[in-house]
Amino acid sequence: MTKPDVTDIVRPTLVPPNGATKVLLHSCCAPCSGEVMEAMLASGIDYTIFFYNPNIHPVREYLLRKEENVRFAEKHGVAFVDADYDKDNWFARAKGMEWEPERGARCTMCFDMRFERTALYAHEHGFPVITSSLGISRWKNMAQINDCGVRAAGRYPDVVYWDYNWRKGGGSARMIEISKREQFYQQEYCGCVYSLRDTNLHRRNQGRDAIAIGTQYYGRPAPDETSGT
Ligand code: SF4
Repeated sequence: MTKPDVTDIVRPTLVPPNGATKVLLHSCCAPCSGEVMEAMLASGIDYTIFFYNPNIHPVREYLLRKEENVRFAEKHGVAFVDADYDKDNWFARAKGMEWEPERGARCTMCFDMRFERTALYAHEHGFPVITSSLGISRWKNMAQINDCGVRAAGRYPDVVYWDYNWRKGGGSARMIEISKREQFYQQEYCGCVYSLRDTNLHRRNQGRDAIAIGTQYYGRPAPDETSGT
């Protein structure tokens, strides 16, 4: 039996908080935001992507993730705000938290920083609702992300954080299907230099090679499978 194309999937009609029709979507990368984007498009929600991820290291990885997201936004005709890559501020805020585990205090700081800028932009540009693709990944703690989103939006009386669970109703599965369909670049670590270090340590303990940035794409064979090396 042929699997249905994800674009044919019937989704429930989504309604943002207070019936708003304009949303600012903080996007961390194309794989995570693909389903969020298509779900909002299917509901006729007017939204803009806000790409603010100064955590991503090194710059080559940052550009790969951003360009993939730009490509998908252009395909759907969605507005894309390319915000600062102010990594020096990110490193300053991460100081002293270099050895925090994932989902710990450093990640709370990282989500706070990204949501703070998103909420500020929403406030300054008339977006009544913000949301994010961050929570769709099963590797993330959704409660931690939502706390940060609510905290950031709480700074402005005219901005609300939409804590919609993008994983539900098959969202997680569609995220992977869309990534394969679009052959998105597939990052192999969360994003910051510390997550790169820890993922490589883990891989080394398993006898695996270190991450080779820019080599993995959803739906494509791994480089060593094609080259035979
Ligand atoms: S592990 Fe991910 S969420 Fe946590 S600080 Fe690093 S980039 Fe941010």
